[in-house]
Amino acid sequence: MQYDVAGKLSDPLIKSKAELIDYLIKRATQGKSNELFRDSIRNYLSDKERFPYLSNYSLIGPRYALSCLLGHFIYHYISEKNPTKQLSLLVSLLDFTKSFKPSKAALLKKTTTEKLLDVLEKFGIQPYFLRTWDYRPLRIYYIPYERPDFNAAYFPYLNSIASYRPKENSSPEYIFLHEVGHLISYNITGEPDKVPDSFIEFNKKMNPKWQNDLIEIFVDLFSLAVMMETEFAPLNPFIPILSTKSQKLIKNYFVELVRDLKYSKSFSIQ
Ligand SMILES: [Zn+2]
Repeated sequence: MQYDVAGKLSDPLIKSKAELIDYLIKRATQGKSNELFRDSIRNYLSDKERFPYLSNYSLIGPRYALSCLLGHFIYHYISEKNPTKQLSLLVSLLDFTKSFKPSKAALLKKTTTEKLLDVLEKFGIQPYFLRTWDYRPLRIYYIPYERPDFNAAYFPYLNSIASYRPKENSSPEYIFLHEVGHLISYNITGEPDKVPDSFIEFNKKMNPKWQNDLIEIFVDLFSLAVMMETEFAPLNPFIPILSTKSQKLIKNYFVELVRDLKYSKSFSIQ
């Protein structure tokens, strides 16, 4: 009988998901192909991640979010032809899986996400821009655990935002818009860590001393621009610490940036 991949994936215990990845690692170590599991993972994902007709995004609730996110990773990793590479991808995925921890912090809500997506549209970001250049819709995963490293993540090659239970007092609303900022910059530049050229110039005026990690500055200021003067403003950590003058400049920059959003040229030649 074939190993019950879907059963292990959907089991709510993190331990079961880790056992599945461990099993795939063992097979890969023995030189056995894992490709035969691709169909059952694909079927599992299409069953659980139901996309509303023609929608630009899908919300995957806490019950299946972690299973589906891991399912996508596993699907891609077991498709890797180079056995050494596949093995190292699976080993890092096992570490990633084992580091989720229980937490009681509030998780972002679906209804709040819908409101935030409305705020983004009012700000000037057309919902189609949540898709990547190859029309992959955005997946938003509500993962009911905490991570030691991050409060959320944007995975550009899956076009997915994973929202975790946040550490400390960070607001999930601000964190979500921070991740949307990563999606926007990825769509504009075609690279996960690059910022639009116009932002390099803008930031010279804004933060003349700042040299590193421009992408994180970009997404944080993006969150500020989008949340300013909305019901979500009290949840943004930068609004209280930046002058009104700076906030106005930031908002103007982003309003102009999103006025004419385009996918990066590197995408259109593919
Ligand atoms: Zn970030």
